[in-house]
Amino acid sequence: MEKNIFNEYLSDINIEITDKQYEQLMTYYNLLINWNSKINLTSITEKESVFIKHFYDSLSINKIIDLNKVETLCDIGTGAGFPGIVIKIVFPNIHITLVDSLTKRIKFLEDVKEQLNLENLDIINSRAEVYAKDTREKYDVVTSRAVAKLNVLLELSFALVKENGYFIAMKSTNAEEEIKNSLNAIKKLDAKIDSTKNILLPKINEPRTLIKFIKLKKTPKHYPREFKQISKNPL
Ligand code: SAM
Repeated sequence: MEKNIFNEYLSDINIEITDKQYEQLMTYYNLLINWNSKINLTSITEKESVFIKHFYDSLSINKIIDLNKVETLCDIGTGAGFPGIVIKIVFPNIHITLVDSLTKRIKFLEDVKEQLNLENLDIINSRAEVYAKDTREKYDVVTSRAVAKLNVLLELSFALVKENGYFIAMKSTNAEEEIKNSLNAIKKLDAKIDSTKNILLPKINEPRTLIKFIKLKKTPKHYPREFKQISKNPL
């Protein structure tokens, strides 16, 4: 996809990328396709689709929070780096931490970091609920896309968010239903829905929903529980 066309799409979310950022996105795209032939990273491989369904979608967070004002962001279950790597490229000011439990994907992310010379980027090979046990109230913003149902995701991630910071869940379908099923988790974790935003991906008009939670108080020490308990008895 041409830079000008991508920038036209991005103007909807108040972003304009530079030549350097476009080149970095292209290098990232090429690495994604190369590595994807060896390990499973994404089922979306056609260039225009990657730019819209992965890159634009990752940046759509700027619609619900001004990323220029964020200092620290942690992306839980980042996989091949969505949304974390894309945000790092376009908002290099943010200190970003990527967390994923799958070692093969972590190796890919380390290669991307090296090839693109990305600084202030920490890559953590861990389950989120294990990482969150000792890394509490650390990040201005925590994001997660396509990792777990909202009630589970909240427990996995919420301890990482600073007081008065935000957790942003990126959902493609059934956001309302997921919110309804998360009322207990929201209460137990002292979370509050700050806002929600419906997005249409450009050109293909597929709907997405961003759900932004604010953290009102420190997360009780016993959350997150071990994954066995979380999955057996979700909040
Ligand atoms: N966020 C990426 C995206 O939107 O393309 C990846 C989505 S992929 C379907 C889910 C990712 O979450 C996988 O890479 C998996 O290893 C990771 N994951 C699942 N549960 C996790 C957990 N409890 N802690 C850390 N990573 C987790």
